[in-house]
Amino acid sequence: MSGETSQLHIFFFPFMAHGHMIPAVDMAELFASRGCKTTIVLTPANAKFFAEAIERSRNLGLNIEIVLLKFPAVEVGLPEGCENAHSVTTEEMAMKFLMAITMLEQPLEQLIMEHRPSCLVADIFYPWATGVAAKFGIPRLVFHGTNFFALCASICLNKYEPHKKVSSESEPFLIPNLPDEIKLTRSQLPFYAKEDSQLSTLAKKAEESELTSYGVIVNSFYELEPAYADYYRKVLGRKAWHIGPTCLYNEDKEDREQRGPKSTIDEHECVNWLNSKKHNSVVYVCFGSNANFNDAQLEKIAMGLEASGKEFIWVVRKEKQEEGKEEWLPEGLEKRIMEGKGLLIRGWAPQVLILEHEAVGGFVTHCGWNSIMEGVCAGLPMATWPVAAEQFYNEKFVTQLLGIGVCVGAGKWARFVGDSVKKEAIEKAVTRLMEGEEAEEMRSRARELKVLARRAFEEGGSSFSDLNALIEELRLHRTS
Ligand code: UDP
Repeated sequence: MSGETSQLHIFFFPFMAHGHMIPAVDMAELFASRGCKTTIVLTPANAKFFAEAIERSRNLGLNIEIVLLKFPAVEVGLPEGCENAHSVTTEEMAMKFLMAITMLEQPLEQLIMEHRPSCLVADIFYPWATGVAAKFGIPRLVFHGTNFFALCASICLNKYEPHKKVSSESEPFLIPNLPDEIKLTRSQLPFYAKEDSQLSTLAKKAEESELTSYGVIVNSFYELEPAYADYYRKVLGRKAWHIGPTCLYNEDKEDREQRGPKSTIDEHECVNWLNSKKHNSVVYVCFGSNANFNDAQLEKIAMGLEASGKEFIWVVRKEKQEEGKEEWLPEGLEKRIMEGKGLLIRGWAPQVLILEHEAVGGFVTHCGWNSIMEGVCAGLPMATWPVAAEQFYNEKFVTQLLGIGVCVGAGKWARFVGDSVKKEAIEKAVTRLMEGEEAEEMRSRARELKVLARRAFEEGGSSFSDLNALIEELRLHRTS
C-alpha cells in the first residue's frame, strides 16, 4: 500500500488536565511529523488552549486535527465549562469529575466509529478505552504521563504492600525489589494507594488495563533511567516505547511561548526581564497547573525567597485581589519586585521559555513529570516540593537517583493544598540550589543530562528509534 491509504491514523485521547494534554499534543505533533495522521480528542473548553498551536502545525503541513467530545459537566452537577482537572478544588467536585470522565466511553466509541483510526493512544485514566479499541479491532496504547521509575515503584508498592507493614505514617519503608534502595513513608503516598475508594478502584483497573492493552508510551528517554526502562520491560513484563522528551519537539516555534493556556504575562516582557539578569542568577518557582497553597504557605514561600536574597520568577495561581493589601505578600518581597529583582506571574507562565533562558539557574518544582522533563532539557538543578499524584516518587528520582536536586522538605501527600513547609527550609533549599559547590555539581550533572536528552531525541537517538519502531509495528499490525 502507498500514499493516503497507507497512512497510519492515530487518535490521542488525553485526560482533561494540562499536564496530560500538553504532552499528548506534543506526541500528536511528533507522530504527525513522522508521516502519521493524528487526531486529538478534546472537550470544547480544553480545545481552545491548543487550537492556535494545531493551526500552526497544519500550516506547516502536518496532518493533525482536533475533534470535539462534549464533556458532561452539568449532567454530573459540575458548573458549566468545568472540563479541566485544574478547576477541580474539592473532594466532591473530584468525584463528579471522575463520574463525567467515565461517561466519555460512549461518545469516544461514536467518534472512533466515525473516524476509523488505526490506533488509539488513551490516557491511563480511561481503563475502559482498551475495550473500546478492541471493538474496532485497533490497538490501544496507554499514556501515563510519567516516567519508568515512578511506574516501577508504583507497581512494586501495590504488589508487595510494604506500607502496610509499618506502624506509623512517618516510619520509612523500603519499596521491595527495585534496582535501587528507595524509601518512602505512608504520608507520602496518595490516599488511594492506602485505602479503598472510587479512585483506588480506578487505579486498580488502570493497572490491569496496562497489561491488557497493546503497550505503553513513556515520555522519557532511555539514558535517563536505563535500569528502570529495563526493569519495567524485562522484569515487570510491560511492552513499552520511550519517545521523549516530547517537549523537545518544535523548539523554534511560537509553541515554546505558548503551551496550553495563554500566558498571563507578555512573553517579551518576561524575556526582557530575564535578559537584564546574570547567567544562572534567577530561581524559577512554579508548582504546575493543579497544586494550590493557602495564604499562610504563600507567605512562607515569599519570606523564604526574600531571605535567600536570590532574584526570582514566582508563578502564583492566586488572582490579584481587587482591593486591600494581600496579606501573604510581605512588604520586603513587594519592594524587591518593585525594584525589578523579582517577577510575580499570576496565573500561567511561559514555563519552557523561562526555563531555557540562560539567566535561570534553578527550578523550585512540585515535581510534575512534565516540569521535570522540561527542567532536565534546560539542564537545570531543582529544589523539589512534591504535592500530589506520583510527585513524591519523582522527587526521589531527581534527588536520589539523578543527583540533580535538593528536597525542600514537603513530607505529606496532599490532594488540593500542598503540605506546609517552613520559611527557613525554603530559604535553605533555594540557597543550596543556587550557590556553592553542591549547586555547581548538580548543575554540571544536569547539563550532562540535557545533552543526553537532546541526543536521545535527535535522529538516530534512542527515543527517535523507539518511535520509529513503534510506528513500524503499528503499520505491520494494521496490515496483518
Ligand atoms: N505550565 C506552564 N505554565 C504554568 C504552569 C504549568 O507552561 O504556569 C506547564 C508546564 O510547562 C508543564 C505543564 O504545564 O508542561 C504542567 O505539567 P506537570 O506534569 O509539570 O504538572 P501538573 O500540572 O500536571 O501537576
